[in-house]
Amino acid sequence: MSERVIPLVDQRSAALAVPLPTTPVPATGLLADTLGRPLRDLRISVTDRCNFRCNYCMPKEVFGKDYPYLPHADLLRFEEITRLAAIFLRHGVRKIRLTGGEPLLRRNIEGLVAQLAALRTTDGQPPEITLTTNGSLLARKAPALRQAGLQRVTVSLDGLDDAVFRRMNDVDFPVAEVLAGIAAARAAGLAPVKVNMVVKRGTNEHEILPMARHFRGTGVILRFIEFMDVGATNGWRMDEVLPSREVIARLRAELPLVPLEPTAPGETAQRWGYADAQGRHDPALGEVGVISSVTQAFCGDCNRARLSTEGRLYLCLFADKGYDLRSLLRSGASDDAIASALGAIWQGRSDRYSELRSSLPAEPGTGKRRIEMSYIGG
Ligand code: SAM
Ligand code: SF4
Ligand code: SF4
Repeated sequence: MSERVIPLVDQRSAALAVPLPTTPVPATGLLADTLGRPLRDLRISVTDRCNFRCNYCMPKEVFGKDYPYLPHADLLRFEEITRLAAIFLRHGVRKIRLTGGEPLLRRNIEGLVAQLAALRTTDGQPPEITLTTNGSLLARKAPALRQAGLQRVTVSLDGLDDAVFRRMNDVDFPVAEVLAGIAAARAAGLAPVKVNMVVKRGTNEHEILPMARHFRGTGVILRFIEFMDVGATNGWRMDEVLPSREVIARLRAELPLVPLEPTAPGETAQRWGYADAQGRHDPALGEVGVISSVTQAFCGDCNRARLSTEGRLYLCLFADKGYDLRSLLRSGASDDAIASALGAIWQGRSDRYSELRSSLPAEPGTGKRRIEMSYIGG
């Protein structure tokens, strides 16, 4: 086994100043970037802190007790997040995902959900609001989140074997409490619940089938995510990636599957339905998904923007710099001026990291410094 190097780095890099266009870019809802991709999905990180130390995301060696998390004054306040979200909606965003860090650690997160739920898209509809969580606080929080207007939730769970899961979250957190969180989310009507499992070859690959058996026929949609080279601290190596096609092959060896059509353009997961004895999708058995960010790039229709905890706008999960929207907000800029700046930034977007990955340096840390997943959100 080759030695892995986990560099000690601060996850934040210099911010990009927001360009103020001389010709205003009005918010028409029809914005497109240089590759013709619209802006539809906004992911908002509400905290850079987490109570887990998943080794692929916030390894303990880096995120120790002296780690310099953002001071509270640097975080966007709920009113600031809501104001920005409203401007993003004017540009065509329809879906908002709250993430982190662990979003349920942010105090009164349900208050933010309620503010966002009161916004409207350009079609006059409420935005679709979802949240990605490690599930540790979900059993407690699910009813209040639902009541505030959250529609769905995605829970991360990397295996059913308690020892494997405790090792992967690295804070000895038990599987049973995450399963209780999933049950509470379902009972509160946060449906359909999706479960994300990051698959690492040699670590939890033997959990693929038990997870599929457990969630098949329950209405929960399980998705397998390829271990990604996000950030610079997780010691990523290609030989730990289990390609999605292999995940599907292993599932099909026991559980018949048929491919399903995507539900929306820009969808990250490829969907597979559990089949009945006639080889047709049986909706009662449900579906699984695979997110092949490493082996099958899906940048072509990537319509996602990311807002970091301190208000920086990232145009790609793998971007090394973000635009400093917080300074613009706090400078007293009008909504129209902010909308114009956002429009100009999106119009200049050309990011497609996953498609270009093979031509970039193979080892993280040797090329551009990328931003950490816990800072920018998934
Ligand atoms: N703490 C929450 C959670 O774990 O669901 C939300 C934030 S977490 C950064 C969002 C998602 O990113 C999780 O599903 C997590 O498993 C995934 N993730 C983090 N690091 C990853 C990596 N290196 N490769 C693939 N997925 C990763
Ligand atoms: Fe925390 Fe989520 Fe990252 Fe795990 S994946 S360390 S739960 S932010
Ligand atoms: Fe979108 Fe960047 Fe991921 Fe490509 S690599 S799908 S552009 S976030």
